[in-house]
Amino acid sequence: MSFYEVIDPKFGEYVLFNAPVKQLATGFDWVEGPVWFGDANCLLFSDIPNNRIMRWSPDTGVSTYRAPSNYSNGHTRDLQGRLISCEHGLRRVTRTEHDGTITVIADQYDGKPLNSPNDVVVKSDGTIWFTDPHYGIMTNYEGYKAKQELPCNLYRVTPDTQDIDVMIGDGNCPNGLAFSPDETALFLADTGRMFSDDPQHIRRFDVAADGALSGGDVFHEINPGASDGIRLDTDGNIWSSAADGVHCISPKGALMGKILVPELVSNVCFGGRGKQQLFITATTSVYAIKLNRQGAQRP
Ligand code: MG
Repeated sequence: MSFYEVIDPKFGEYVLFNAPVKQLATGFDWVEGPVWFGDANCLLFSDIPNNRIMRWSPDTGVSTYRAPSNYSNGHTRDLQGRLISCEHGLRRVTRTEHDGTITVIADQYDGKPLNSPNDVVVKSDGTIWFTDPHYGIMTNYEGYKAKQELPCNLYRVTPDTQDIDVMIGDGNCPNGLAFSPDETALFLADTGRMFSDDPQHIRRFDVAADGALSGGDVFHEINPGASDGIRLDTDGNIWSSAADGVHCISPKGALMGKILVPELVSNVCFGGRGKQQLFITATTSVYAIKLNRQGAQRP
């Protein structure tokens, strides 16, 4: 069996013919939000329906990092290495300080509660960008059922001033997001309403020096499945979740190849030695594969 499907021959240079897609841990209900801590040699990820953040290390295996997690979903790290978390349960974005205390980054806009923050990135100027679709308040499975009071926006928080800005308000259900390595482009996945015919695509925005976004044309349509989570490598290729695995998409938007995964993939992140390992959260399990690629420096 092959772990890959090569569409563009260049993709063959990105993978290692004998590196397996390896299951690291299983038995969860819906894993999401992987983030690598090279300094602690471990991966954190969410097991959303079970209301917990798990930790995996090659040395010690799997343990519980935080429970309850307020139904946390996406994670990243800020410029000081602190954990940034999206929480469905308390409908907020938080920062875990180095001493373990929790600081609220954002929980409302215009006097109304956020929907259910889903995924998050930090730009090199320290601003925190997160998506706020309604998935976590639709049912009691991944949070608490509640009334939606705000559109599904993309927000930017400036931690120093606590300013919160709507950066994109015309999305359907914005989800995964990532900047290009030089931060001149932002890629934003939109996964639409559940059980609808809404398009599943990634949009590309130009990013001005002050962070303002323009453009936003559809960059790539994911098929099969949806682009729930995305990360970029140092050459600007996009690695996106899909129903049949992880799709590698060129900076021009062409599908180059796939890593085949036996479960529905939700998200990915680079980590391991030299950031050349791709960690994959997929339904009940976490997988990893070593690549001939390096993740872009932003987690
Ligand atoms: Mg997501």
